[in-house]
Amino acid sequence: MRRSRRLLASTFLFSLPCSTPNAEVVLEPKHDFVEVNSMLKRSPLTATLIAGLSLLIASSFVAQAERSDIETVAANQGPATPKNSKSNSDPFYQQLRQQATNAEDFAAYVSVNNLALKRDAATFTLKSGELYFTLPIEGRVTAAVFIGAGELTLAPPTEAEKRSLELFTKQPGVMTEEFSTLVLRFTDRTFDEIKNSPNAKMGGSGGGQASRARDLFRDNQQLLRRQLHDNRELRTLADLYAPARPGFFNAFINGSRYNKLIYIMDPLGIPEVSPEEIALFSYGDSDGGIWTAFHAAPEYEQKTANGAEDHRVVDITRHEIDGTIKGTELTITDRLSFRVLAKSTRVLPFNLYRSLRVKRVTDEQGRELSFIQEDKDDDPDFGIIMAETLEEKKSYKITIEYAGADALHDSGGGNFILGPRSTWYPNNAGTQFGDRAIFDMTFRYPAKNIFVGTGAQVAPETRDGDSTVAKWSSGTTELAVAGFNYGRFKKKEIADKDSGYNLEFYANEEVPNEIKNIQAEIERRENRAPGQQQNVTGTTLGSVTTTGMAGVALAEAQNSARLYNAFFGKLPYTRIAMTQQPAGFFGQAWPTLVFMPYLAFIDSTQRSQLLGSRGGTDTFWKYVAPHEIAHQWWGHTIGWTSYRDQWMSEGFAEFSASLYVQLTRGNDKFIDFWEDHRKQITQSSPATRDRKPYTIGALTQGYRLSSGKTGAVYQSLIYPKGAYVLHMLRMMMYDQRTGDAQFKAMMKDLVQTHFNQDISTEDFKSIVEKHMTKEMDVEDNGRMDWFFKEWVEGIGMPSYRFDYQLAGNTLSGRVTQSGVPDNFIMLVPIYLDFGKGWIKLGSARMVGNATIDLGKLELPAPAKRAAICAMNDVLALSVENSGK
Ligand SMILES: [Zn+2]
Repeated sequence: MRRSRRLLASTFLFSLPCSTPNAEVVLEPKHDFVEVNSMLKRSPLTATLIAGLSLLIASSFVAQAERSDIETVAANQGPATPKNSKSNSDPFYQQLRQQATNAEDFAAYVSVNNLALKRDAATFTLKSGELYFTLPIEGRVTAAVFIGAGELTLAPPTEAEKRSLELFTKQPGVMTEEFSTLVLRFTDRTFDEIKNSPNAKMGGSGGGQASRARDLFRDNQQLLRRQLHDNRELRTLADLYAPARPGFFNAFINGSRYNKLIYIMDPLGIPEVSPEEIALFSYGDSDGGIWTAFHAAPEYEQKTANGAEDHRVVDITRHEIDGTIKGTELTITDRLSFRVLAKSTRVLPFNLYRSLRVKRVTDEQGRELSFIQEDKDDDPDFGIIMAETLEEKKSYKITIEYAGADALHDSGGGNFILGPRSTWYPNNAGTQFGDRAIFDMTFRYPAKNIFVGTGAQVAPETRDGDSTVAKWSSGTTELAVAGFNYGRFKKKEIADKDSGYNLEFYANEEVPNEIKNIQAEIERRENRAPGQQQNVTGTTLGSVTTTGMAGVALAEAQNSARLYNAFFGKLPYTRIAMTQQPAGFFGQAWPTLVFMPYLAFIDSTQRSQLLGSRGGTDTFWKYVAPHEIAHQWWGHTIGWTSYRDQWMSEGFAEFSASLYVQLTRGNDKFIDFWEDHRKQITQSSPATRDRKPYTIGALTQGYRLSSGKTGAVYQSLIYPKGAYVLHMLRMMMYDQRTGDAQFKAMMKDLVQTHFNQDISTEDFKSIVEKHMTKEMDVEDNGRMDWFFKEWVEGIGMPSYRFDYQLAGNTLSGRVTQSGVPDNFIMLVPIYLDFGKGWIKLGSARMVGNATIDLGKLELPAPAKRAAICAMNDVLALSVENSGK
């Protein structure tokens, strides 16, 4: 999921708990908007399409998708919201926004001679030149511009981060970059440090390049506002109101090779990689992404560098949301309760979708509060300035009123889609995904439509004139995120006693416009073929409907819920709703609420007619429901602490789908499922810029695996390799007599121990160590370090070969492991088939690149065949079984 994303809005991908094995779901990070149909925008699909009508239909689909993008842009050009006297009016804020508008700014300067500014792992050596400073605001200088000759050296503290940086720079270990200008923005002690340095000489006024410094700073303001959509002045203001904080440091580096680099050090965490405090970004087209990110150096020394670190300034405990929907216009009041976590907090940062415009903020005493929210096309970060500094640990309430017509999109025929999934309400900017809280929601909307919320309905709907009023609540369960689906739906439900959940299905009565347009085109062609048979296009799309899938969708939900209950235990929720959304190529799950791609709700014959043969055979639509339902456990009941832990949400959801495949479709499809996932991890494709995904980085790099250099590697690694990690553990724990008993006990323990909390990779590892088998203790220390180092933090990829002989009642053979680091350990399972399917005989413990001889094993009966990794038990580049 999602959060807060500040810099690099347009250049990198940020993924939510969702399922898109074959679609590249690209979230516009800053605006939290889900881009749909991106699969169709990529050419490979078109190339695979069968000739004729499919091509026609698919191309009209593409046109439609592109057209809808244009519409989105056009829809953004609404009338400007009238200015509120309390918005953007804070006097310090106004001074910050107006820096570099008068000649006194950047008039003061120093000459430097080998001045070294050390900021954690980076050193900026200003060899020669001049530094120009802004005027102080509230007694503090917060920006400087360097013009001259300098050099950056940067050495990340971990091997994985060195590797990540090297991917972009091709410089092993340490990066060095010459630069000619720097724009520095800071609230730390940078100014005092420079002023007091013996390597800096105070100049008088009128340094020769003051006006150039001002121009460079103005360019930087434009960059932040127009391109990166990041309100640095709001971030700066937060620290001006909290003078005791250590402050942040940003350097915008105009380097000789890379001129779009930003180095950030922020003790409050950097939104994109929170809770990490250090990062180097590029906003370039071909190398955009987070080159490296890590914790502050002292945290490595004190061994506190981990994802559980909490930088939130407040903890939001409750949202009381009162909303009205009229057309696509949302008018919302959110009464927010929060507890203060950080000392001397006065400015509260939120993530709120850019076109939801704040009208008024009041505190508990009814005082109208000053707030910041710039134009939606600039840097619209939302922040509230409290009337006074807040007391640590105390609880407060504020009321935020906002409205906008661009968050909800109308796709025609009563089909609506909510664009910003986690920022349609003010979300805590100090969190990556969301701040767990109680959500009470009351919504008013036209009576012809249906509103499906998160949590459960607390009272029957009531009528108020032409409107329906619905009340929803998460009860006593805090949710990481809340949302809703909305439209003209048909509802079906079953109370499943076996699983204990009420299962609901909502499909739209009419298809969205993109299907209607295709139907109209078909009709046109059929009517325009004089002398030809009717139904010249050979399609049945005229009759396409999604409501007919109710039975199938409910059965999928029922089977999934029962299966996951058995493996993982019960959810804190009473119901799960499968709802249709007018996006064909991605699904997403919120607590109790699953958004299904509408193309999963039409039959595969019609999907083939729309998309070519792939629409009928692709497993994405087949397995999207079990994947999304699994997110109720993985992602929601068990969340993740930082982006480095998100692999568990997507990986475990994908793993859960494999259980579903095994249960409903049998072992052969189960093995196919893993073979397909193995290929996703090991094979290069245009989507990964022809790189093999597993070589790019470890699971703990999270969404950062995707970048301008690597394409959509996140999708090709986090989902399938994250799933493989759990699959390998399950297979290691599988016992021929007790089956999955040990594995189930482990997973239930994980859910119970961390019920409705966010977990780190380390938390999961501890649970595995509690339940590991004796055989898994390969290092004889009761720990699973070896496994997590190799598969979660590492990028090693073994290959295997098994040469065996079956003679009478004996098996002999040799197992070879190759292509791995010397200390790479794995348990490689050996299977036999006595004529009734595979039976696990045991495992070979392989260390490094080696071959071991099994000797001569006596069998109870003659076997038909033998194999290693018969269930695709070990992720490998290749597994060869060669028997005689
Ligand atoms: Zn997912």
